[in-house]
Amino acid sequence: MAFARAFVPFPPSSSSRPSLLFLTISHLSVPFQSIRNLTVSASSSALNSSASMEMEAPKTHRWRPMCLYYTQGRCIKMDDATHLEKFNHNYSADLKVNATCLNRLRPQDLDYLLVLDLEGKVEILEFPVLMIDAKTMEFIDAFHRIWHDTAIPFKDVLQEFEVWMTNHHLWEKDQGGSLHRAAFVTCGNWDLKTMIPKQCKISKIKMPLYFMEWINLKDIYLNFYKRTATGMMTMMRQLEIPVWGSHHLGIDDAKNIARVLQHMLADGVVLQITARRSTASPDEVNFFFGNRIR
Ligand SMILES: [Zn+2]
Repeated sequence: MAFARAFVPFPPSSSSRPSLLFLTISHLSVPFQSIRNLTVSASSSALNSSASMEMEAPKTHRWRPMCLYYTQGRCIKMDDATHLEKFNHNYSADLKVNATCLNRLRPQDLDYLLVLDLEGKVEILEFPVLMIDAKTMEFIDAFHRIWHDTAIPFKDVLQEFEVWMTNHHLWEKDQGGSLHRAAFVTCGNWDLKTMIPKQCKISKIKMPLYFMEWINLKDIYLNFYKRTATGMMTMMRQLEIPVWGSHHLGIDDAKNIARVLQHMLADGVVLQITARRSTASPDEVNFFFGNRIR
C-alpha cells in the first residue's frame, strides 16, 4: 500500500505532513513548464517498469501510463500529440472486453461494481474508483483523486465522489445513503475495514453509509477457484493475466484488479458482499464466508 515515491512533486517540508489537507494548489496557478515536469515525474516509475510489462502485453495493445491530470478531469493538453502519444487518456483501452468471453457470464444481483484501491498509510493519498458493468463486464467510468499538485481535502474528495455517484445513479443521499445495486470491490479488507474509518476519524467526518459493506475479491477468488491468493499479484499470476503498470500506484492497481474481476466474471463467478459493518456497532465487521483469507 506504499505510495509511489515518484509521485511526490513537492517533497513536504519537515513541518508539513504528506496530507491531502495541506496541499491545495490550483493547477491553474502551476506554470506550464512545471505541469510538464510533474506529468513526466508523476509517471516516471510507471515508465520505468513499463518496459518489461509491455513485452507481456498482447502485440495489439501498447500499455502507457495514465495521464494523471486526465484522470482527475484536468488535462489541458488534450490537443498535444506528443502528450497523447506518451500518456493514456482512455481507460477502456486496458479494460477491453473480448466478446468471446461472455459465454460463461452468470446473472448478477448487482448492476455495477466499483473497484477501489486506496493508497497511503497515515492518510489516504490516492482514491481511485473504476466503475464496471456487472452484466457486460464493460468499463463505464472512473473517479480518481490523488495527492498531487491538484490535491484537495478528503472531505472534498468525498463530496466530489458523491456527485459522481449521483450522476451514475449509484446512490441517493436522501434515500439512506447506501449504494443502489452497486458494491465496492477491493483486494483485501484493508481499504474499507481499516483505511476509510481511519481517514474519516482524521478528517473528523462521520463515515458515510456507502462504505459499510464491500466485496473482498480475495475471498470470492478463494471460494470460487478453491485456491488461495494472498494478493493481487498472486491472483494475476495464477490466472495468467499480465501485470500492467506500477504495483502500488493506485490507478494501475485498480485497473489490474478490474482485469482480475473481468477474468473471474468471464469464468462464471457470481459476486456477493463478503463483509458488512454492524449497523448497531459500526466498529464490528461481519464476514460472510467461513472460508476466507485472514
Ligand atoms: Zn493529459
